[in-house]
Amino acid sequence: MEYEIAKRKHRKRKRRNKEIVLVFSIIVAVIVVAVGLFGNSKLKKSNSGKENKDRIDNDITKVTDEGEKSSDEVNTNENASDENPTEDSSAETTQPSTDETSGSETTVAQEHNAVSDEIDPNKPMVALTFDDGPSSENTGRLLDALKENNAHATFFVVGYNVDGNEEILKRAVQEGNEIGNHTSNHSKLTSLDDAGLTSEIVNMRQKIADITGQSTVVIRPPYGAVDDHVMTFITDPVVLWSIDTEDWKTRNAAATVQNIQQNVYDGAIILMHDIHAESVDAAIQIIPWLREQGYQMVTMSELGYYRRGGLQTGIRYGALPPE
Ligand SMILES: [Zn+2]
Repeated sequence: MEYEIAKRKHRKRKRRNKEIVLVFSIIVAVIVVAVGLFGNSKLKKSNSGKENKDRIDNDITKVTDEGEKSSDEVNTNENASDENPTEDSSAETTQPSTDETSGSETTVAQEHNAVSDEIDPNKPMVALTFDDGPSSENTGRLLDALKENNAHATFFVVGYNVDGNEEILKRAVQEGNEIGNHTSNHSKLTSLDDAGLTSEIVNMRQKIADITGQSTVVIRPPYGAVDDHVMTFITDPVVLWSIDTEDWKTRNAAATVQNIQQNVYDGAIILMHDIHAESVDAAIQIIPWLREQGYQMVTMSELGYYRRGGLQTGIRYGALPPE
């Protein structure tokens, strides 16, 4: 009797086991189908996002929406700032650490400035940038060297040096270079009130646009110092740097040349100052060297155009390596 009961129990258990296996199989099947569907819709979503982004890159007058920025713009660069501002008015001291940093404002793409079609987008390129000029003594021979080597640069000029040197700016742009805004008086923007910001940023932008006819006037804040409030006064892309030659500190052409030779890479933004004779001496040596190494020397607008489809307002650029 007991044996019979045990046998029946065993059969019952077997049946239950079968049921459990069946139910489990159904659950697994449902999960597989659900994951498949979800994965597919996710894929579709990211594809449409990509198409959207491509369209925006191509049509650079369109306003991009906040959601599209996340892929290639990071917001970790809290120290492109005023942590160690120096009293030396010719010096930039902070070191931007990321490629691109987005501000909190919505991005408005700009029409780009003249872009040379002699540039090969598949070959390495660097942006030489010269701050605090122009200099009636030094900028001219720098422009000669750029021209001789089929190279372009970006000049972040200050208002008090532009006055009386307008022809230098016009020549620079005529020869394919770009003029950027480095404020009217080389002020630390994060310590100014709204009237000061208008005078330093907005008025200086207008001065440059009037002289050069450029549609975009890239801006480099002195000392790299910007914050969210300062950004609301800026209507152009913000250009920081990735290689600080410290030319203003060493005032030594050989040291500046060596610094660039050791640190240069594809997409680098190199910081120098054309108000110093030693810096221009260094540039005159490094320009043919960079050319021999296969680097194309391009303006910031050219670098942005060939590497990201155009520079955008509200973004802080520290370097533009190939994507
Ligand atoms: Zn400066």
